Amino acid sequence: MVLADAFGRVATDLRISLTDRCNLRCTYCMPVEGLDWLPRADVLTDEEILRLVTIGVARLGITTVRLTGGEPLLRKNLELLVADIAALSPAPEIALTTNGIGLAARAEKLAAAGLKRINISLDTLDPGTFTELAHRPRLPDVLAGVAAAREAGLNPVKINSVLLRGVNDHEAFDLLRWAMAEQVQLRFIEQMPLDPQHGWQRDGMITAAEIKQNLSQHVELVEDPEDALTRGSAPAELFRVVGTGYSVGIIAAVSKPFCGTCDRVRLTADGQIRNCLFARTESDLRTPLRSGASDSEIAALWVAAVANKQPGHGINDPSFLQPDRPMSAIGG
Ligand code: SAM
Ligand code: SF4
Repeated sequence: MVLADAFGRVATDLRISLTDRCNLRCTYCMPVEGLDWLPRADVLTDEEILRLVTIGVARLGITTVRLTGGEPLLRKNLELLVADIAALSPAPEIALTTNGIGLAARAEKLAAAGLKRINISLDTLDPGTFTELAHRPRLPDVLAGVAAAREAGLNPVKINSVLLRGVNDHEAFDLLRWAMAEQVQLRFIEQMPLDPQHGWQRDGMITAAEIKQNLSQHVELVEDPEDALTRGSAPAELFRVVGTGYSVGIIAAVSKPFCGTCDRVRLTADGQIRNCLFARTESDLRTPLRSGASDSEIAALWVAAVANKQPGHGINDPSFLQPDRPMSAIGG
């Protein structure tokens, strides 16, 4: 069995939100006061997550498992969960998306447990802007996390940056220069309508074209010819910085959707399958999981959940409705 939809796409990349909680409050993701967190009893245990991942890997063709959130490092036994997932057969590639806080002390253990890839979110190099954007003065912790990830051999470390107009958009080139010096792979992400305030506006969003134009005032960018051949389902379009060996990524999720090649499926912290970030419906795996369903029954529910996937996220349709859950509760 595979996780196929009606448009010929097959999901092989499972993104698991390990928690909806976070120690930052990035304005595009979470309100300052936090959210009504999921009741602890609703959140999948490590054993439940492992059972679902095992079904995904052994029966449904999942080859990559990305652990995200909320902030996945808030999950106490993350290293053990990574080790358990890495021990599955066939072993999936394990990736982590994190804000980097606390990573300095854990990167090595995570790498030893079997973590292969890491994305660290960093939108600014200015401590004041960091605090304005994320509402916590934690820039030094994030930078220490980036350094630790590199030292632990989790290379190439990828950096996710969201630019907000009038807040950090003037820092696009500073971030690029820093990323080139640190030898980490920078990827700018267009802001998507997944903010809890439902305040996203197309005109306010810094588009991929704008990011490119902004960077082009400082460096010459050309499309990366290898990327065009090998991009596959990767969301980032890569641009070579002429005269360097460096390529910068831009994820134009809104202005140039890549839904046609999407290979992702999401599992929320409370055990719901979402076949798209922007899905309006979810499929509950937690209830059957806790009421004695067999692996085949759970696999069949999962297959049905993905089969219903829409052809695209629809952000550009006049009838688009933002999902009720914000990014932090879905798992980015
Ligand atoms: N807390 C972790 C982190 O920040 O990396 C993992 C979860 S976070 C939801 C995953 C990614 O989603 C981050 O890179 C973040 O910048 C991005 N993100 C959150 N809200 C977004 C939005 N409205 N539009 C685009 N990206 C967003
Ligand atoms: Fe937390 Fe990540 Fe959302 Fe920022 S983007 S509030 S770090 S979950």
